[in-house]
Amino acid sequence: MSFIVSKFGGWANASAERLKKAADLFESNPERRIKVNSAIGKIEGLPKVTDLLIEGANKRIKTGTFPDEIKKFIHDNHYKVFEPLDIPKSRINEIMDLLDLYIDQYEKYTPDYFRALIIGTGEELFSRLDTLYLTEIRKLNARYVDPREIGHYLQGHPLDGKIHDMSYENLANLRNYQQIVVYPGFFGVDVKSRPMIYSRGGTDKTAADIAKATHATIYENWKDVDGIYAADPRIVDHPSLISEVTYKEIRELSYISFDVLHQEAMIPVMKASIPINIKNLLKPSENGTFIVNSRQLDHHYPVVGVAHISDVCFINVEKTLMNEEIGFADSILTIFREHKVSIDQITTGIDTMCLVVATDQFEEKTIHTGITEGYRKKINIDEFAQYLKSWLNADSVQIRKNKTLICVVGEGMIHTVGLLNRITKALTENNVNIELLDQGPSERNVIIGIDSGKKNENAFKAVNAIYHEFLNNYENRKKNNG
Ligand code: ASP
Repeated sequence: MSFIVSKFGGWANASAERLKKAADLFESNPERRIKVNSAIGKIEGLPKVTDLLIEGANKRIKTGTFPDEIKKFIHDNHYKVFEPLDIPKSRINEIMDLLDLYIDQYEKYTPDYFRALIIGTGEELFSRLDTLYLTEIRKLNARYVDPREIGHYLQGHPLDGKIHDMSYENLANLRNYQQIVVYPGFFGVDVKSRPMIYSRGGTDKTAADIAKATHATIYENWKDVDGIYAADPRIVDHPSLISEVTYKEIRELSYISFDVLHQEAMIPVMKASIPINIKNLLKPSENGTFIVNSRQLDHHYPVVGVAHISDVCFINVEKTLMNEEIGFADSILTIFREHKVSIDQITTGIDTMCLVVATDQFEEKTIHTGITEGYRKKINIDEFAQYLKSWLNADSVQIRKNKTLICVVGEGMIHTVGLLNRITKALTENNVNIELLDQGPSERNVIIGIDSGKKNENAFKAVNAIYHEFLNNYENRKKNNG
């Protein structure tokens, strides 16, 4: 018998209708054993629960009170979802009281642990109420399991926790429950029982860690899309849906632009060879996309997907005898690191180096992906080039703006003769000039840099040309082949 771990994100948890659909899934398949929940996501007309909790915790720390207005919004979110499911307001309020209990624990913790306690509460409140619905209204045999009770230990920064090895042994016990386990994602505790959370979007990671610990057969991730598309649907008209893709391929695609799940969440399941199935909650009978360790390749279709990112710039550094200067690459990378500018791609020649950087890397931004806010001021790109030039004593540093990077990915590309020829031919026929070309050492990807053109016209043409060269009729062919 399979053992399925299913994750429901903020969107799936943001309406009564969707909760009913999730319950149907458990009712119809007893192999679904663990339901990992995010907090309620965005509801029209209301701020999002996790954002409200972050704001409330920060206000409590700064001013001494958790504003009533924020509490009211948090309550309203839960009424909106659970009242239509016949959970009376009084029962909702009983569970919502937990929030006050936690706010009162302010003195017990340092500010970041307090933040973690409050921010993770969205997942707990939702999961406790969801359990009420599943057991009392749907009459399913389900129970809430708390990460503190099972020993879900995280380590590191309280707002950017990483799984502690000890947790896996504890989480393995979730396999022994006879009931459907309803488990809140995102939070845990450290070994001293202090509150901890993963970084934002961490429920993907909770579910992945549980899938690994329980040796799940499948890790299902329920979303509002049919699965993963072979190209950006905003650029390519009705791109085909990828039925199967390997972890390695998805890593390459996500690196440029595909937004699938929390990157760190893929690692534990990938190592344990557990397939991830991305499915649409509104069309549960469709297969969605499977992310797997290895897949059968169809030599007619060496490419699985075409990712692209527009609005990047190429930074060309030239220095005579660069190749003989030991540590030159290290100096460049250090400057980028110190300025907290992340590099998408590097190509080198004997005396030149081209670094591809997303233009937004130079904008003012919060640099930590978690909740700890590191704020970085805007960097003037031309001043940055000047700085690079003088620091590296380079002959020239040129910034070429308005570029697009396209990444063609597929395990089938390995040892395929003539693949680059097909790419360049498709671009030539569309009059697109290639400015940068790089085949990754894995032969699993080819990266092409081009000028984006006016209003991204060139980028649009190029992505479509490559997509149609390799993936046209992909779905039809799959269907015909059974
Ligand atoms: N609720 C958390 C967030 O908004 C965690 C999650 O949804 O995965 O980041």
